[in-house]
Amino acid sequence: MQLNVDMNRFARETAQGPMPPEQVATLAAPAPSAIEVLWELAVAHTREKSPASFDQWFAGVQFDDLTDGVLSLRARDEFVRQWVDDYFVPTLAEQLRAHTGLSIQVRWTIAGALERPVSSPAASFAPVGPKPLTLRTPAPDSVKPAAFLAVASVHVPRAAALPIDGMNTKYTFANFVVGPSNQLAHAASMAAAGVNGRRHNPLFICGGTGLGKTHLVHAIAYRVREERPDARIVYISAERFVNEFVQALTDQRMNDFRSRYRERCDLLLVDDIHFLAGKTQTQEEFFHAFNALHQASKQIVVTSDKYPQQLDKMEERLVSRFQWGLVADIHAPELETRVAIIRKKAQLENIELPDDVCLYVAQSVRSNVRELEGTLIRLAAKASLLQKPVELAFARTEMALAGATRPNEASVDDIQRLVCHHFKLRSTDLLSKDRHKSIAFARHVAMYLCKQRLKCSFPELGRAFGNRDHTTVISAVRKVDALRAVDPDVRAHIEALERKLGAVE
Ligand code: ADP
Ligand code: MG
Repeated sequence: MQLNVDMNRFARETAQGPMPPEQVATLAAPAPSAIEVLWELAVAHTREKSPASFDQWFAGVQFDDLTDGVLSLRARDEFVRQWVDDYFVPTLAEQLRAHTGLSIQVRWTIAGALERPVSSPAASFAPVGPKPLTLRTPAPDSVKPAAFLAVASVHVPRAAALPIDGMNTKYTFANFVVGPSNQLAHAASMAAAGVNGRRHNPLFICGGTGLGKTHLVHAIAYRVREERPDARIVYISAERFVNEFVQALTDQRMNDFRSRYRERCDLLLVDDIHFLAGKTQTQEEFFHAFNALHQASKQIVVTSDKYPQQLDKMEERLVSRFQWGLVADIHAPELETRVAIIRKKAQLENIELPDDVCLYVAQSVRSNVRELEGTLIRLAAKASLLQKPVELAFARTEMALAGATRPNEASVDDIQRLVCHHFKLRSTDLLSKDRHKSIAFARHVAMYLCKQRLKCSFPELGRAFGNRDHTTVISAVRKVDALRAVDPDVRAHIEALERKLGAVE
């Protein structure tokens, strides 16, 4: 099948033809070219490494061009150039080299004022951490809702929604694929946004990285703004909360800081609360903000990579408050959900994708949705650069070259090693006759993972686990399967192992 993923063509096409009036303003900027997509991928990766300082420095940098391995950047002044050159360019160049196969040289221009800085200078409410594929254009003043502090970057929206500063316009409920793995968190988020269902306060959304927590939080904000345009919504990552708190202390602006979180707020969304671990003074501050808002019946939504009771170095009174409302967990999506997510992403990014490629990617990348999405975008960008269609053979080759997850390539040995490492056991423990509870549990989990992941029969597995009978393996697999359904701790262990397996395959 001949498919077209020429992003420049899409850019031209989206700029033409009739479109609904509400989209005209937001679609004025062209869709990203393949080069811009590569640049944004490299930026996203680099930002992920230093989320807190990236925006600060890249507010003084502009991307001009990438041609024949020459990356043209513009810096506001020599100081910014030097810093970015020293601390960020090596990662950026390495990323671009990995995607293009070219060694990258950087050509700098010193420019004074910049028209299109990579980051917003006032990113005080921008999400911290990996950012989605976006292009940045100056936000027209008219679209800035007063309830949000200014962040001068907007995503190029293809949806009708106007951007909320610091949030991704694509992270809406409409773009969220619901499956068994995230059903509860999705329903609870809809309820928190006042759509339907009982509202829980706080709503604590937890799950591994890249599973859609931030997406849901943005979706809540967009929905609330749609329903109640005057609502004062405050979205902040815990990391930025810490930074702002420290800054407010230093500048003696605590009254202002407190009033923002305790009084001038109808909906508080705090992303990645686990970042507060060990930061006792900030926890104390957050505790009071929490109490004030909760007492005033203002909705609070918090995300975390762990269950409340598993949060390290977190004050007990905070942990207990996190459980006052609803704890909604998100798990790694099942195959069907992964396929649906890839379809949705391809549709949003205007990438035509044959069903067999869709299935191949979904089977290969299992650990998290961000990786799934990254694989899709990389495939499309590479195909566009090489002017090739995204066909199955192409996808197989490219994913193998990129070291993306390859299905069914882990061995029994790999899984046993991983499980031992995870449960801190010796490599011989799994094969021994030791029936100690923790060893037996690890052994059962290893058998379960082998059965799930590898094409081994029960007798083969029995032999690989110290010559055990196949009925032992069958009962172990059943037991773990049943426990996984009812016991969150067991589920958390298995998902952590599955994520690690995703990375080693
Ligand atoms: P987290 O905050 O849990 O680390 P994100 O919310 O940043 O994860 O999600 C990572 C990427 O995966 C985002 O681009 C998001 O849109 C996408 N994603 C995750 N879950 C889903 C889903 N169920 N449907 C559609 N996209 C999803
Ligand atoms: Mg997140």
